[in-house]
Amino acid sequence: MKQKILILPGDGIGKEIVAEAVKVINVLKDDFDLDVELTYGDIGGAAYDADGHPYPPTTQKLAKDADAILLGAVGGYQYDDLPRDVRPERGLLGIRADLELFSNLRPAILNKELADASSLKAEVVAGLDIMIVRELTGGIYFGEPRGIRELENGEKQGYNTLVYKESEIERIAHSAFKIAMKRDKRLCSVGKANVLEVMELWHDVVERVGKEYPEVELSHMYVDNAAMQLVKEPKQFDVMVTGNMFGDILSDAAAMLTGSIGMLPSASLDKNGKGMYEPIHGSAPDIAGQNIANPLATIMSVSMMLLYSLNREDMAERIDAAVERVLQQGYRTADIFIEGIEGTKLVGTSEMGDAVVAALLS
Ligand code: NAD
Repeated sequence: MKQKILILPGDGIGKEIVAEAVKVINVLKDDFDLDVELTYGDIGGAAYDADGHPYPPTTQKLAKDADAILLGAVGGYQYDDLPRDVRPERGLLGIRADLELFSNLRPAILNKELADASSLKAEVVAGLDIMIVRELTGGIYFGEPRGIRELENGEKQGYNTLVYKESEIERIAHSAFKIAMKRDKRLCSVGKANVLEVMELWHDVVERVGKEYPEVELSHMYVDNAAMQLVKEPKQFDVMVTGNMFGDILSDAAAMLTGSIGMLPSASLDKNGKGMYEPIHGSAPDIAGQNIANPLATIMSVSMMLLYSLNREDMAERIDAAVERVLQQGYRTADIFIEGIEGTKLVGTSEMGDAVVAALLS
């Protein structure tokens, strides 16, 4: 049966980069045997303009019906003064909550060709390939009680609550172990069990779930050490799993090891493996409409979609190999172009997409 992909270009460069990713999907459909059907919808500012809401009912229905979703980015200066509940970013939060996308996959991959773009020494990061699995719908960002209260002496006190139920830890652990099974079969669970009881429970539940995945080598690390190790010796990691706040911080640090925001895809999955795939960057209004944005993060988001939601590992490998090839051929968009490196050529968004298509067909 045809699998359905919902395409949500969103705002700013979202439209340009998604158009290049769609070129890639169409080649896999037309010239290989990928059996998918594409539908289109609005989200973010584009949906607000069309329907008065950043995640309107029409998009909600399309999202529920789809097997996987490809999203560009949302946001733009023109929406900055809108009331909070109809701002473009609310569309993103809305779709994540609506589809219960609790498992956020944030790979940090650094292609050998781009090692000079990192602020770390090339030998520390060249060939880096880490996957951070962040719990996305629980933990301290959602825990109750929360607020700012006044103490008896009149001083104000802010408070939040870090809570995880066993069932929440179990499902993110299963998600991470399954991902490790598709990779190098090493999982590092990151917590703070020496100080926080909730992380003691996290540790024990991850251990328990690990019994069901005997092939995966499980280790544990405190978050402060994990932050140090990520910068010192990042290639020691395969998959890392952690809670919402720790994951928020570690995944951004890991992303910057690669030096380039335009190269990193991401995924958010539900418990059945249905997912939304998107580049980690935003809608970049400063460069929108100029055909200079890097479409590779979005194209690699399609590769993740094929691997994690559509079970077409063969197709994912084709895309990864094609991206590798265009970088070897020297194609660079402005964000990854370094003046004076021999054999590289500066190209625009659509030329980069065309180069990936040509590499797929060659
Ligand atoms: P941004 O990621 O959009 O841009 C940061 C910088 O990186 C800019 O200089 C931009 O030109 C550059 N950049 C981003 N993507 C690029 C690409 N593919 N190729 C080349 N250069 C690229 O972050 P921002 O400027 O803080 O936010 C802009 C808008 O995006 C805001 O409205 C924000 O709310 C929104 N945003 C959306 C998402 C999302 O949709 N997931 C994520 C972050 C920010």
